[in-house]
Amino acid sequence: MVTITCRHCDSPNIIKNGRTKSGQQKYYCKACSFYGTLDTKDEERSEKKQLVEKLHRERVSQRGIARITGLSRNTIVKILKQSHSTQAVKDEHSGAS
Ligand SMILES: [Zn+2]
Repeated sequence: MVTITCRHCDSPNIIKNGRTKSGQQKYYCKACSFYGTLDTKDEERSEKKQLVEKLHRERVSQRGIARITGLSRNTIVKILKQSHSTQAVKDEHSGAS
């Protein structure tokens, strides 16, 4: 069970209100009238993770990725290690055409 709360005032008194073009759920907070997506830390992390993987595929060095994403080298190494097993298959496919 996930409790969603407003990122501005932490009120759970929010309602779903459509989606953005990129498919992100948008919310409206009845407590503080905040309207927009709720970028939870998890979402933020997975977005950063995708960015790291993308830059890595573009052959950007780990130091370059660190500069662009603002993450530490350690975090980047961890992300790349995690994604390597699944990523290898996709890379083969995209490079085969
Ligand atoms: Zn709020």
